[in-house]
Amino acid sequence: MLQHEIYKIYGTDYKDMTIRILEESNLQEAVRNKAEAMGINDATQLRIGIKPNLVAPTPASFGATTHTEVVAGIIEYLQARDFNDIKIAEGSWVGDKTSDAYEFCGYKTLCENYDVPFVDAQKDGHHTVDCNGLDIEICDVVNDIDFLINVPVMKGHCQTRITCALKNMKGLIPNTEKRHFHSMGLHRPIAHLSQGIHQDFIVVDHICGDLDFEEGGNPVVRNCIMTALDPVLVDAYVCKLMGLTVEDVEYVKLAGEIGSGSTDVEHARIYDINEGNMDKEAPRDNKVLRVKYAVNEVDSCSACYASLVPALLQLEEEGLLEKLDSQIAIGQGHQGETGKIGIGKCTRNFDFCVMGCPPDTEHIYEELKKYILG
Ligand code: SF4
Repeated sequence: MLQHEIYKIYGTDYKDMTIRILEESNLQEAVRNKAEAMGINDATQLRIGIKPNLVAPTPASFGATTHTEVVAGIIEYLQARDFNDIKIAEGSWVGDKTSDAYEFCGYKTLCENYDVPFVDAQKDGHHTVDCNGLDIEICDVVNDIDFLINVPVMKGHCQTRITCALKNMKGLIPNTEKRHFHSMGLHRPIAHLSQGIHQDFIVVDHICGDLDFEEGGNPVVRNCIMTALDPVLVDAYVCKLMGLTVEDVEYVKLAGEIGSGSTDVEHARIYDINEGNMDKEAPRDNKVLRVKYAVNEVDSCSACYASLVPALLQLEEEGLLEKLDSQIAIGQGHQGETGKIGIGKCTRNFDFCVMGCPPDTEHIYEELKKYILG
């Protein structure tokens, strides 16, 4: 597989599809090339890390977390070629414990079945890395990995619009740094993180990701798996699949500008292994954009914004949202400010505040409904 290539495979037997696409895109060769670059003769000695997306304890069918079948396929492919020093590493988002997602999403069973250790990045130590001029705290497990296989879910995101290869690396920073990312506006730190954690190979779970929300709930079935070597290129391609341009997703553009990869999708070679399926990828309506006009968001945490949007969509469906007399403030950037309506403890000084950190969707919906109806 070459740097400007993206491979795709469609089907419903996710483990077999994964093994097939890894054979076609020659993962083994990529590991060998890395070993050679590191001056290691025996490539099977490389410490391989697999980074899935276990953002929260929800089933993969909800569209937020990486299917275990995909990771099982990667492990089987590697173990069949004597790559046995494998670990899985991940840290869930701030609102949930990785240990819950590890069990609930089937990773405990997976790790036991294949005798592969799991590293909970939320419990790991961390160290400062200069990521192209921006200091970022990165989990220590990254230093114990020679070859990193990133296995993100292709999803929508209510703040950054897409999340895939680049943003999935946020699971390898401590919770304190995740909060800090939000206070820095997400795009710049995500782009710079691509310089602090090198992704060697990407396997995208594009089976049924939620194309609106990072935490899932509205899966869109595509039954596709993609592979690539360049995280920026694959994210740029995801922008295209979702009807966006690279300019629409600032961190992808920025990651390209600081040298983490190419955004040149037009010159990429997209190879459909089982051919004839590309028409399944028609861009679709983005629900989040429908209600964005009602929100004044400044540096909000993902979990907080993700709670708000479904509540607004419900109010919109009931014809109530348009009756709001003010924009809704949300995010750490509103701390200490005053105003009319706010969501979360960061807006506690507002005249009307739905408290919580983060408040849940049901609570937000009920409180805003009461406010609107007087
Ligand atoms: S209130 Fe919301 S934005 Fe503020 S810290 Fe809590 S979760 Fe984050």
